[in-house]
Amino acid sequence: MIFTDLTIWDGSTLLAEDCLHITGSYITNIGHTAELTDIERKEAISCSGLTAIPGLIDAHVHLELNPDDRNPPERTEPAVIPLMAERAAKMAQAGITTARDLGGGAWFELDLRDRIAAGEVPGPRMLCSGQPITSPRGHCHFWGGEAENADAALNVLSRQVDHGVDLIKVMATGGRMTAGSEPTDAQFSQEILDTIVSTAHSHELPVAAHCHGTEGIRRAALAGVDTIEHCSWVGKEGWASDYQADVAEIVLEQGAWVSPTVNKGWQRMLDSKTGNVLQRVRQAYRQMLDLGIPMVASTDAGIPGVFHADLPHALVVFAKIAELSNEEALKSATSDAARALGVSGVTGRLAQGLSADILMVDGNPLEDLTAVTRPVRVIVRGKKNRG
Ligand SMILES: [Zn+2]
Repeated sequence: MIFTDLTIWDGSTLLAEDCLHITGSYITNIGHTAELTDIERKEAISCSGLTAIPGLIDAHVHLELNPDDRNPPERTEPAVIPLMAERAAKMAQAGITTARDLGGGAWFELDLRDRIAAGEVPGPRMLCSGQPITSPRGHCHFWGGEAENADAALNVLSRQVDHGVDLIKVMATGGRMTAGSEPTDAQFSQEILDTIVSTAHSHELPVAAHCHGTEGIRRAALAGVDTIEHCSWVGKEGWASDYQADVAEIVLEQGAWVSPTVNKGWQRMLDSKTGNVLQRVRQAYRQMLDLGIPMVASTDAGIPGVFHADLPHALVVFAKIAELSNEEALKSATSDAARALGVSGVTGRLAQGLSADILMVDGNPLEDLTAVTRPVRVIVRGKKNRG
């Protein structure tokens, strides 16, 4: 496939080239339309007015959760499998070509990952954690990953390894989705977190840690987790009321990425008359970014009201809240996200030899970020998912 007359942003730079060649599942050349042979020109698809960017990456989703449910089901039933496939197909249609699934109860998302990779069903490339490790009756315990001590945590971990996960998820603090679990509270001791992270790393699996409260952020960072999910700095006064500069320093020094799970519903924060929460959250994000802590786009899709294909809209809201330039926002969902997830050798940029994971949008998102909400063509691993 040859696509001509494009504006191309490769994940970091606007290119002088305007033509993409795809062979099989790879980008095989990026060149100039004017240099095509007559034969190539005949079969080429003209994309005048479109901008090609790397397909978007959502660093935090839950394929098995139904955003229309106020409460998650007590157990994962096979009836959810076709719904998960539908959600994955919608994500790819919206331009999401890679998604990291951070928790389910029955490894159904891993089967879906493999079916997508085999080309049997449409969907994004997926990285899956399986059951998150949590404390007894802790956040999302209904997924089956409860552990009361280090040995039990390692049992849960090795069960995920046996199922072929791509990473390990640990609930370092409580959360809102589980009654009796408090977002402010750390769920595991430093020793247990250290054991989980070093064991996961010995299996060459990265670790994503769910962290709302500051003590959980501190312990997760010290343990060496790869991504800090939410990073809410939640304190007694609410979200982002307990930002601690010394803890942020630890996050920076340890090289963790922050995945803030900003969904499009956070527009409420921007519309709020008082603006108190916005001010606190914005300040926390700005302080982390100014310090040099890298952030990636993520939505926590699947939780109530957060739909799986909404990352493009969420990205626009994230950019406004964190005061990112359009290019910074785009990087957070493409090239930076790929580095955070450890897949930059495969996807996240438009470059010869990388997977053909491409989003073509109407307009230029560097000038108007909302262009990412207007997908015209989506290609995942060289296959058209739209257009
Ligand atoms: Zn989540």
